[in-house]
Amino acid sequence: MPEIIRELCNGCGLCVAVCSCKGLVLIDNVATVVETVECDYCTQCEAVCPTGAIRCPYEIVVGES
Ligand code: SF4
Ligand code: SF4
Repeated sequence: MPEIIRELCNGCGLCVAVCSCKGLVLIDNVATVVETVECDYCTQCEAVCPTGAIRCPYEIVVGES
């Protein structure tokens, strides 16, 4: 699951809106990962976050075809 750096989160909710698996919620205006939801590692939350508060701690490997 993504890591949220709570100090950087401004509560904008963009990551919550973009997550296709509903794996993120706002609690006390801070994005929080719902541990029971299966994250498909789309990295949309990381991409959309304006403050860099989300890190997806894995590498995207683009295969050559
Ligand atoms: S990586 Fe994708 S599926 Fe996983 S929490 Fe972020 S937006 Fe949701
Ligand atoms: S997109 Fe970033 S700043 Fe906005 S709620 Fe999510 S983690 Fe916080």
